Amino acid sequence: MKTLADILKRARRVAFFGGAGVSTASGIPDFRGDGGLYSREYAGLTPEMILSHSFFFLHPDVFFDFYHRFMLHPEARPNAAHLALAEWERAGKLTGLVTQNIDGLHRAAGNRLVYEIHGTVHENRCLDCNRFFPLEWMLQTAGIPRCPDCGGVVKPCVTLYGEAPDPYAMTGACREISGSDTLIVAGTSLAVEPAASCLAYFHGRELVVINREETPADEKATLVLRGNVTDFLRPGLLSP
Ligand code: NAD
Ligand code: ZN
Repeated sequence: MKTLADILKRARRVAFFGGAGVSTASGIPDFRGDGGLYSREYAGLTPEMILSHSFFFLHPDVFFDFYHRFMLHPEARPNAAHLALAEWERAGKLTGLVTQNIDGLHRAAGNRLVYEIHGTVHENRCLDCNRFFPLEWMLQTAGIPRCPDCGGVVKPCVTLYGEAPDPYAMTGACREISGSDTLIVAGTSLAVEPAASCLAYFHGRELVVINREETPADEKATLVLRGNVTDFLRPGLLSP
């Protein structure tokens, strides 16, 4: 903890790159960690199969059943890690927050410099007329959500397997990471591409990895913290 606090004190521009492990303490299961969605069977299909571009179009009924049951967590609230990152942004320490999460909890915690490279459950659009729908509307639907204007299927603006991540968010993510002197990577298996390749843009001084399990970034890190994200990222870390 002391080493992490010292690194933060010295840092001028901190970037953050996070994944599903940042939100497990808020009650949202991850995919590949212990108790993650990959350990559960769903009609003999893996989440990676269901949450794919082709599956969405071939079996939208199964897709939306899974999506409603496992991907929407309107009751989830920001945890200590989200609140710490919001504090770092207010203090001018954190200059860019990149997340693979789609849950919107970083924005709910107050962060504004957020790059949601896999999109967000808070945005949904009709595939036919492009009308926008918020999460609240989506929560009231059952089965395949249909646009009340034109009857088109309403698709969540989240990146499915087989789809490219949002190019604006990816460009911003790479810019922030390449401009930072300190990068904190937390709660991610770094198994999803091209998201994980964002880390290749880092050429700063300190790379800190916080995760329960080993990650491919550990060998390049100046500090590896093995454990829960919320054991290390908590409000108050910047205080003397
Ligand atoms: P992942 O499931 O592949 O890996 C999560 C990693 O975090 C694992 O290594 C796990 O051991 C670790 N972990 C879990 N809880 C932790 C905690 N409290 N403290 C420290 N480490 C913890 O997740 P990923 O790398 O983000 O890739 C999964 C993809 O699925 C992403 O693209 C993401 O969009 C999506 N996803 C998002 C959410 C969400 O929005 N909250 C949830 C599940 C999956
Ligand atoms: Zn429509």
